[in-house]
Amino acid sequence: MDGTSARRGADDDPAAAMFELIEQLYPICRSITGDGLRRSLGIIGQELPLELREVPTGTPLFDWIVPREWNVRDAYIATLDGRRVVDFAQCNLHLLQYSTPLDRVVEHAELLSHLHTLPETPDWIPYRTSYYSENWGFCLSQRQADQLSDAAYRVVIDTTLAPGHLSYGELVLPGAREEEVLLSCHVCHPSLANDNLSGIAIAVALARRLMAVKRRFTYRFLFIPGTIGSLAWLAANEARVPRVKYGLVLSCLGDSAPMTYKASRRGDAAIDRIAAHVLRQSGAPHRLLPFIPYGYDERQYCSPGFDMPVGCLMRSPNGTFPEYHTSADNLDFIRRDALAHSLEMLERIVAVIEGDGVFLNLSPKGEPQLGKRGLYRPIGGQKEAGGFDGMALLWVLSLADGKHSLLDTAERAGMPFAAIRAAADALIEKGLLAPARQDSA
Ligand code: ZN
Repeated sequence: MDGTSARRGADDDPAAAMFELIEQLYPICRSITGDGLRRSLGIIGQELPLELREVPTGTPLFDWIVPREWNVRDAYIATLDGRRVVDFAQCNLHLLQYSTPLDRVVEHAELLSHLHTLPETPDWIPYRTSYYSENWGFCLSQRQADQLSDAAYRVVIDTTLAPGHLSYGELVLPGAREEEVLLSCHVCHPSLANDNLSGIAIAVALARRLMAVKRRFTYRFLFIPGTIGSLAWLAANEARVPRVKYGLVLSCLGDSAPMTYKASRRGDAAIDRIAAHVLRQSGAPHRLLPFIPYGYDERQYCSPGFDMPVGCLMRSPNGTFPEYHTSADNLDFIRRDALAHSLEMLERIVAVIEGDGVFLNLSPKGEPQLGKRGLYRPIGGQKEAGGFDGMALLWVLSLADGKHSLLDTAERAGMPFAAIRAAADALIEKGLLAPARQDSA
């Protein structure tokens, strides 16, 4: 659709499509700039009509500046007789990101000071970066490091750090209203599955769903390198910031931990209330966390100069699982059922954003007689196919006084928003309920 080729069966089996996209993106060496990032955006662009943005090196972004573009051709540590013992071609995590070029013989002691390992999990390779201070280094398993016993090794880092661009992808799906819902995910990590690829896959799946339906709000999806990418978008779109009424950063949505929502800095934004409602009503274990100024791009969106209503939806928060930023955050670490559940929760949040509104009971003096309108439903009994019972109808009629929203009603009734919305739709159809304001759905 819209000139993009659909992944086969993507809309019938979203979990399989998400996993397939993750598998395709996994081997690519992404960073905050460079051709791996561009290639990844190109693959996402086969799923969505994504706009590719390129911001030149040296562009000031508030207190930051777009760095030089980094590209890797090859990198390895070899014995002096030419045997490669650590090789970027085997695993792109081996090279410290943003390593400067090098080709020389390095004494063992000096080499050690440039190696990063995880002694407690000796088979895992750490993921390390040095974007903003010039350095070089290799990341390897402790077992590999323990075998480096020669007096010297040849170190080759065939990289370029040169003026170029910072790339990011943007998709806008216009709705009836100009007010926006922002969905942002980072795309700057190399071969890491949960931290970055799961968020990308969920964002793509949601965008594809939204492309196929009529929308009340305008949806903006950002596929950006962490920190510097959100700053680049904010710098170019400062005037648009007040239009964003709801926002979510999507990260780490494929592991088996319970769903987690981290609130916006405001803590009382509509998105905070909606996400909390959806997770509480899901019946599944979940965690609701307050804002902290650490994590993903919510740090930039929620900075006091922007103060956007942006929370973070995830399963495991960053840094809280042993596999985080290691080679163990691989395709075996993420689960199809977790991806499917994350997408389901995100879609429920979007359903509240799209479906909430303030209504008026058009027969407010006494209860309207539901039986004669075919609306009688047993209270708390077997739910009809419409997904609501009599109690939901009574709650909607009771609170449709022009002051309470459907979300208020769902919260007060202790029922899922979808049940309240279905009851409201039935009442609208029978002429018992009408929007209190133009902007209600
Ligand atoms: Zn990360």
